[in-house]
Amino acid sequence: MLTSKNLLEFYEDERMKIAIKVGSKIRAIAGNFLRSKGFIEIPPVIISPFTDPLAHELIDAKIKYYGNEFYLTKSMIFHKQIALLTFDKIFSFSPNVRLETEDKKNTGRHLIEFTQLDIEARNADRSHVMKIAEDMLVHLIKEIRKCEEADKFERLPPIPKKPFKKIKFEEAYHEYGEDYEEAISNEIEEPIWIVDFPIWKREFYDREYNGSGILADMDLIYPEGFGEALSGGEREYEYERIVERMKKSKIDLKIYSNYLAIAKYLHPSAGFGIGIERLTRYICGFRDIKYANPFPKLPGEYAYF
Ligand code: AMP
Ligand code: MG
Repeated sequence: MLTSKNLLEFYEDERMKIAIKVGSKIRAIAGNFLRSKGFIEIPPVIISPFTDPLAHELIDAKIKYYGNEFYLTKSMIFHKQIALLTFDKIFSFSPNVRLETEDKKNTGRHLIEFTQLDIEARNADRSHVMKIAEDMLVHLIKEIRKCEEADKFERLPPIPKKPFKKIKFEEAYHEYGEDYEEAISNEIEEPIWIVDFPIWKREFYDREYNGSGILADMDLIYPEGFGEALSGGEREYEYERIVERMKKSKIDLKIYSNYLAIAKYLHPSAGFGIGIERLTRYICGFRDIKYANPFPKLPGEYAYF
């Protein structure tokens, strides 16, 4: 925990200075990369009547306002779908508040406030956005390797070879069990895709291959034990299917009434969200995510700032 006693130590730590400068470059390079591919940057959503329900345990973050409640954004998934009513391709550097449980305190990869580079494209399928992610990551690594901070990294991040390998969730789970993500990440030397998650693992908005219980989605896993880089997939966009999936997930439809009203007009889309602090951590080779934010807030702790 950061306290008044060790605060200065943190601010004088060279790793924090490096990671913040690299994070700044990542934002610039990734933003320009996406703009060059025709993506429009939209402002982030901080508060909304609805947000991503997320499949894992979290403490809800809400604020009261004139007798109503806003959720603090956990992800911009629904707002991305809505923005595609106007635009073909969008992205946002989206601040996410996820009050993670305290068991995640020492993972080195969880913050309770972080930034997701969230991307979505109209009429795109999964393979389309996987290619964008691969191109963006390879471009980023190539560019950052040239920057002046690179000789202070734990190691130079290797340039991955495209296309990245893919493994189906079912195979990964069968071979490595519950901790498949960590086991795979420790074993691989290049980033790898895990695809086709089962419906019980994920949220209602990832698109199901017709009635199969399998989703057209994916995670990207970093090598060297750095774990998950991003999650994404194709989306449910047809009103009836969305409602059916919400009911299956025992979601309270009332909370999503505004989203559901717009859901009648959604387009097919695919996209992903990549955590900027985790990306910074991987590129610098620093094990602790706290260096990627000058005001890090860790699960289970009340923050100093
Ligand atoms: P998710 O929607 O949970 O798949 O999150 C999208 C991406 O955000 C993940 O792949 C991570 O890169 C990043 N992320 C998720 N949760 C956290 C967290 N608590 N702290 C930092 N980064 C996170
Ligand atoms: Mg994920």
